Amino acid sequence: MSSPALLPTKAELAAARPALPAPVVLVPTMGALHSGHLALLRAARAVAGPGGSVIVSIFVNPLQFRPGEDLDRYPRTLDDDLAMCAREGVCLVFAPSAAEMYPGGAPQVTVDPGPAGQVFEGEFRPGFFGGVLTVVLKLFHLVRPDIAVFGEKDAQQLALVRRLVSDTESVPTVRDPDGLATSSRNRYLSPADRELALTLPRALRAGQARAGAENGAEDGGSASAALAAAREVLDAEPALAVDYVAVVDSRTFTVAGPGYAGPAVIVAAATAGGTRLIDNVPVMLAGADRRSTERGLRGAADH
Ligand code: AMP
Repeated sequence: MSSPALLPTKAELAAARPALPAPVVLVPTMGALHSGHLALLRAARAVAGPGGSVIVSIFVNPLQFRPGEDLDRYPRTLDDDLAMCAREGVCLVFAPSAAEMYPGGAPQVTVDPGPAGQVFEGEFRPGFFGGVLTVVLKLFHLVRPDIAVFGEKDAQQLALVRRLVSDTESVPTVRDPDGLATSSRNRYLSPADRELALTLPRALRAGQARAGAENGAEDGGSASAALAAAREVLDAEPALAVDYVAVVDSRTFTVAGPGYAGPAVIVAAATAGGTRLIDNVPVMLAGADRRSTERGLRGAADH
């Protein structure tokens, strides 16, 4: 059985992920693998089937340890873990550092496990399940598994993860044939208002097209170019009262800077004939706009 790829960074994981045959089955662990984990790996291999992929994550999550707990002493046996993964047909081991998972230090936004996270284990380890669910959600976003495997040994964790998944499923925006996102408030729109409201999705599509066209295109790709394309459409329709339009990093919801590369969302809100609408489209940004970089360099050289 060949050794699994050992990936310490999110970038490597993101690069490897598209090539993994489905179904992709994730087994989150903190490493120091033992027979309990072995059962999970075998179950994962079985549900993945001969054609699917098993990913094991090994991460000792500092968020779920309190001061005085055993974060520093927690056993780390990466070589043995990799050997077990190799024997069990694991394709890929994602083993990030704490700095890789939490580049800004402890995250300010965390998952609140709700009342079920306050009792039993949660009573004895305050903050524990918030830490667990935060990292599990992060892993789900990074790996985008079709199936995740958890052990019943940690039954409260299992219950909370199940709850997390059922509470956080998402569905892409449903649109009417004219492109307007369906909304209960759309019924307030007169035909003329609706015509006006359509400027919003049209602007977002323009931004999306610019971002898409730029990925690999001659003139570079950037958040600022996508934003400019969306603004241009909105500015041409002064009757639409725009609250905001922005390109944000979809993971942090902070404004994507001109050099930002990665998943982003163009978000916008506007009022058409008294009805407030919000909408957004996802975009994948290629990074700095070559023209603005060149301008920047020329500007710098001028000084
Ligand atoms: P840990 O590495 O302790 O975070 O555990 C990773 C996963 O392995 C969790 O889903 C645990 O529930 C599972 N696990 C740990 N020990 C056992 C065990 N003895 N039997 C079954 N599953 C286990």
